[in-house]
Amino acid sequence: MTAVDDARALLAASPEGVWSAPGRANLIGEHTDYNEGFVFPFAIAQRTAAAVALRDDDVIRVRSTFAPEAVEVSLAELDARIAAGGLDWAGYPLGVAWALLREAPDATARGVDIALASEVPVGAGLSSSAAIEGAVASALNDVWNAGLDKVALARVGRIAENDAVGAPTGIMDQMASMLGVADAATFLDCRTLATRAVPLGFADAGLSILVTDTLVEHAHSTGGYRERREACERGAAAFGVPSLRDLSVDDLARAEQILDEVTFRRVRHVITENQRVLDTVAALDADGPSAIGELLVASHASMRDDFEISVPELDLAVETTLAAGALGARMTGGGFGGAAIALIPTGLVPAATGAVRAAFAASGFRAPNIFTVTPSEGARRDA
Ligand code: ADP
Ligand code: MG
Repeated sequence: MTAVDDARALLAASPEGVWSAPGRANLIGEHTDYNEGFVFPFAIAQRTAAAVALRDDDVIRVRSTFAPEAVEVSLAELDARIAAGGLDWAGYPLGVAWALLREAPDATARGVDIALASEVPVGAGLSSSAAIEGAVASALNDVWNAGLDKVALARVGRIAENDAVGAPTGIMDQMASMLGVADAATFLDCRTLATRAVPLGFADAGLSILVTDTLVEHAHSTGGYRERREACERGAAAFGVPSLRDLSVDDLARAEQILDEVTFRRVRHVITENQRVLDTVAALDADGPSAIGELLVASHASMRDDFEISVPELDLAVETTLAAGALGARMTGGGFGGAAIALIPTGLVPAATGAVRAAFAASGFRAPNIFTVTPSEGARRDA
């Protein structure tokens, strides 16, 4: 059963349609999105589906295989319910409805039943949140005739996540989920929202992306993530620029002079990470996927040492997959837990998987989830 089948089964009524959007893995470019920099994520094959039926009243009723209870909110009380908060998982689909109506005031809003089902592991750094947002935004865009394009729908997802759910994330996840292309990654300039689908050629090169979900929980709305954002804002303010995007590796020497030691390292991560994204795209274009391994390794070191968002489980996954023959490996997602990826010859996947399991057991860490992800198509209507 796919998520599309599950969502259809959960919807008691006969659906107007079924829409889905994928999770994503970020190949490189971490904590650069809210600094208006560059990111390079790809949509994965695991998807979240939204089956939608029209209602005769003005009630939005959301259900998910994820939760036992349905949640109902009328369109008339949507603003107040979003402002009041406390909607838990239903804040994602209802937040998308609310954000869509803000971005497309002429949409013909009406009551809907929305049933959600997902194949995307939650909280694993694969952005189940962007998947649910992308599926619901795509669905409501069609059934409410909102007429938004994919970039505008990504923005709707981000508004929902920032302003309705209250997680201060950038727009990378939503763009990757909306715009994914099979066997390609989405190069995204987070300042202009310009994108380019860059062919990865993993399959032809006999390479796979192996994910180690450490099962260490991360929480974006709290602590570390917010502190990192504040450090980046401090760094940009010290240079008198709107964001760290406006700085380059040529500014590092001055950054070291004018910033305190910790802020300097935070800033250095963002500046060098932006450069690594550009270098990764250039290396893929020129030499193909086997040329990007060292950039992934350098990205991980920067997150571990300068941005300090890794955890021992992520470091161990990276070290172990590299020792098992990966060309490159790094933690992916916001950090403080979540997942690591490794670019590895497909034939080495079973041995690397065993090595990671053994290493985690030897360190007394919880047994991780290990699986491959495939660069796949973005949001779409399935039925
Ligand atoms: P990530 O995006 O890394 O998986 P987040 O904390 O950003 O983690 O988002 C996970 C949250 O999104 C879940 O706790 C839940 O509230 C919501 N969510 C994701 N998928 C679903 C789903 N299929 N049904 C209901 N809620 C979901
Ligand atoms: Mg998320």
